Amino acid sequence: MIEIDDITKKYGETIAVASVTARIGKGKIAALVGTSGSGKTTLLRMINRLVEPTRGRILIDGKDTAEIEPHVLRRRIGYAIQGYGLFPHRSVAENIASVPRLLDWRRGEIDRRVDELLHLFQLPPDRFRNRMPHELSGGQQQRIGVARALAAKPGILLMDEPFGSLDPVLRAKAQEDLLALQKQLGTTLVIVTHDIQEAITLADHIAVMHRGKLIQYGSARDILSDPADPFVASLVGLSERPFRLLSLDRIADFTVPGEADGAPVSAAMNLRDALAECLWRKTDALAVKGGGVITRAAIEARADSKYGGGA
Ligand code: ADP
Ligand code: MG
Repeated sequence: MIEIDDITKKYGETIAVASVTARIGKGKIAALVGTSGSGKTTLLRMINRLVEPTRGRILIDGKDTAEIEPHVLRRRIGYAIQGYGLFPHRSVAENIASVPRLLDWRRGEIDRRVDELLHLFQLPPDRFRNRMPHELSGGQQQRIGVARALAAKPGILLMDEPFGSLDPVLRAKAQEDLLALQKQLGTTLVIVTHDIQEAITLADHIAVMHRGKLIQYGSARDILSDPADPFVASLVGLSERPFRLLSLDRIADFTVPGEADGAPVSAAMNLRDALAECLWRKTDALAVKGGGVITRAAIEARADSKYGGGA
């Protein structure tokens, strides 16, 4: 658990982060969103003490981080940034091994971990272990950046716009992979993004920052159905709201008995894609793989904030 307790960071007259208080539960995903310059990166970097707060405290599992040596803290907390920050003159294996080496892991243990991570990220070790960063595509470099951040099995992973430079297809894939990995490892994840849909897709809780302040902190559903102020409302994009709400639900939870024509869709599909499918096929119901149907009426009901909220 990460407890951010009334934290403030000033640079001269600039208040980068203003009295932010928030808790992030163990194994949860929190997304920091907001416009450029709103203090997201500064807040993130105070968690691993790359930035020292002017005032306030951050506790990890009840322990004040001010009392943990910064280098010790940083070896326990993974950190992945946009542009990947790979060491250009070190091989893929050496990049991934950076923190385990600092922690004096045994050689064999490090080699095993490198191969394990390469497998996990679908980069066959015998082909990728010895490559240099410039011999990788952007998507591959991004995966190595995340693999490196996870190498020493940190309980917490901080990510600063990690997918910012990926094209939409790679980005969706990277988000999916990250979610699967995070579930598997139980890592507590704090991710900065300026993409509200990315936050909605990934996060248990979304923190909306504006001019250093935490304007709203809640689930995606809370933020979509009940934005705290006009700034949050504009950030979630009022015209996009029904579609974003629908992206939170899966067909499986709204399938009812019945039959419909056409190829069955996956029960794991979200309701936004299901609505698109209904519109495209000009139909009022879709057959669902494994049995039953999802009706357009049921989807439309979920797009209404009255139903989407509360519950
Ligand atoms: P974001 O990540 O949301 O774009 P930042 O946390 O990088 O925002 O910056 C928040 C504010 O703090 C900005 O006004 C920025 O100019 C200022 N700031 C950030 N880092 C420094 C620094 N090292 N020195 C002076 N001002 C800084
Ligand atoms: Mg930033």
